[in-house]
Amino acid sequence: MGSKIPYKQPAYQESAFNCPFCNAYSNQIWFRAFYFIRGQHMNLDNLDVCFCTHCDRYSIWYEEVMVYPNFQRVEQPNEDLNGDIKADYQEAASIVQKSPRGAAAILRLAIQKLIIQLGEKGKDLNTDIANLVKKGLPVRVQQSLDALRVIGNEAIHPGELDLRDDQKTAEQLFKLVNFIAEKMITEPKEIEEIYNKIPDSKKQQIEKRNEEVKKQQ
Ligand SMILES: [Zn+2]
Repeated sequence: MGSKIPYKQPAYQESAFNCPFCNAYSNQIWFRAFYFIRGQHMNLDNLDVCFCTHCDRYSIWYEEVMVYPNFQRVEQPNEDLNGDIKADYQEAASIVQKSPRGAAAILRLAIQKLIIQLGEKGKDLNTDIANLVKKGLPVRVQQSLDALRVIGNEAIHPGELDLRDDQKTAEQLFKLVNFIAEKMITEPKEIEEIYNKIPDSKKQQIEKRNEEVKKQQ
């Protein structure tokens, strides 16, 4: 009595953890997915199915990450994020239902890395935001980052647990990572791609026009 087993989050190839469906700490049986071709069964690389022996439901894992059921509530990370930030995001997504604080801590770290991807130091959010504003950071992104500063305790360093983080905060942090990436990386890239389609001779005309506008100001 009273000897409660601590919660153990689902992890790849673990033989027991708390089931994402029934929440029981239970044995988990792993199978590699396969398909039949010409009478032979071939493994589907990187795709595993894990059955809970308590409720008989199964989670689906791709490249060692649980993609079902935990990804239901979180959108995919922005494609332009650096690989390690995407990995952080997916790690946060895989634990957010059971550990929003853990997910929020990882996401704060991901935002710090994103700020570094954007060319800042990533040490002091206040200074970084100020520098990014000088670089033309859209007001909405600046507001989002300042919200992060205020929502998060400034004394809490990225990667540490903030006891006040809850499910909603974690969900907002997921959105913020993608929003910043969209505004600061994806949109400028798309605009540049469109602009690059303009022939050089036309670009020169445009530059000339811009210079004339500047002179008039
Ligand atoms: Zn179960």
